[in-house]
Amino acid sequence: MDSVLIIGAGGVGRVAAFKCAQHPEIFKHITFASRTKSKCDAIAADIKTKLNRGGINTAKIDADKVPELTALIKDVKPNLVINVALPYQDLTIMDACLETGTHYLDTANYEHPDTAKFCYAPQWAYHDRFEKAGILALLGSGFDPGQTNVYTAYLRKHYFKKMDTVDILDCNAGDHGYPFATNFNPEINIREVSAKGRYYENGQWIETEPLSVKKVFDFPEVGEKDMYLLYHEEMESLVKHFPEVKRMRFWMTFGQSYLTHLKVLENVGMTRIDPVEYEGHKIIPLQFLKKLLPDPASLGPRTKGKTNIGVWVTGLASDSANQPLNAHIYNVCVHEECFAEVGAQAVSYTTGVPAALGAKMILSEQWKGSGVFNMEQFDPDPFMNEIGAWGLPWVITFPDGNI
Ligand code: NDP
Repeated sequence: MDSVLIIGAGGVGRVAAFKCAQHPEIFKHITFASRTKSKCDAIAADIKTKLNRGGINTAKIDADKVPELTALIKDVKPNLVINVALPYQDLTIMDACLETGTHYLDTANYEHPDTAKFCYAPQWAYHDRFEKAGILALLGSGFDPGQTNVYTAYLRKHYFKKMDTVDILDCNAGDHGYPFATNFNPEINIREVSAKGRYYENGQWIETEPLSVKKVFDFPEVGEKDMYLLYHEEMESLVKHFPEVKRMRFWMTFGQSYLTHLKVLENVGMTRIDPVEYEGHKIIPLQFLKKLLPDPASLGPRTKGKTNIGVWVTGLASDSANQPLNAHIYNVCVHEECFAEVGAQAVSYTTGVPAALGAKMILSEQWKGSGVFNMEQFDPDPFMNEIGAWGLPWVITFPDGNI
């Protein structure tokens, strides 16, 4: 298996295409398709200049349309579709993969454009059909979800007899110089951040008001940052696959300027996702706002600083008689270095690299199965053995105390 179809030519699609192109021994045939073909052509041209790798085919696709997708997949005959378009397209692309018997990978759970739900149920419902078709769907192969799921599985496998608490810590300390911009698709980002927070404790989900729970955390190589409790999709699969965990939380850092802008935009109704009548047209305020904000793909050359994303686990060490253990595993990325390598900032980079390596896991059959799977269901070792060389090296420390 050596052929992939990448769908979605945004920031993450650029990185995934570069990373696949860097590994011709695995990805012999790459087709890159998006709603706007010229974006694919521009990225393919950059890959030719920077990596001296030509031969990447490009195509125009509306991934909301199953017949169009099915026709393209039948024409290209990829072994795997890498979906790095938007979460709205997950189900149509899964449908087309089912129709054509093609493996599937994405980086974000399905969302309906009218309701932000952040749950895996619609995609887990495909399990039996994928199993029957003998094909694999790998869900959430980005950083969070994705690498964070693999980190958790890796810590459990090698360091913990039992995990009690899991905290996912996502820090972007990059500065792009704009008073307000989002580092990935603004619509998806703002829907996620303005939703209610939720965390898991003793078998229950506890809801919190949006951005109402804050802690200061000293991120290695970055320093102290304010981080806020959010709901994030990987918690749903992690508590399912590691039922021993008593408490699971997700934290993301935000600067004061971002939060002040967001509050104002919310207060004036600009983050609404329901249609509003304006001069005879129906507009969705959040989609209009997206038009006004900087394109995340354009932030690359301006963004300076680091990201630190990782997982902090407490529990019982596996190598001793019921000794408590705390472990923090994380990756640090430098925005400028990511941009120099692939022409994208670190948030796109940290997502696109695990997407490409997840694709390798499937093509090389180091991860195999029939059905719909989350990352932590596979052996973390082959992924962890390679992810450093692919661009995301990791560090484990064993700190005292808890968060
Ligand atoms: P962008 O908005 O930059 O790019 C999305 C791309 O998808 C665009 O090129 C767009 O095309 C294309 N697209 C949108 N709708 C369609 C459609 N109907 N048919 C074909 N192509 C379409 O987003 P990002 O690159 O920042 O994010 C990509 C994905 O990665 C998202 O699902 C996001 O949620 C996920 N993500 C995951 C993370 C993780 O860690 N797991 C972190 C960050 C992002 P066009 O430009 O022509 O409109």
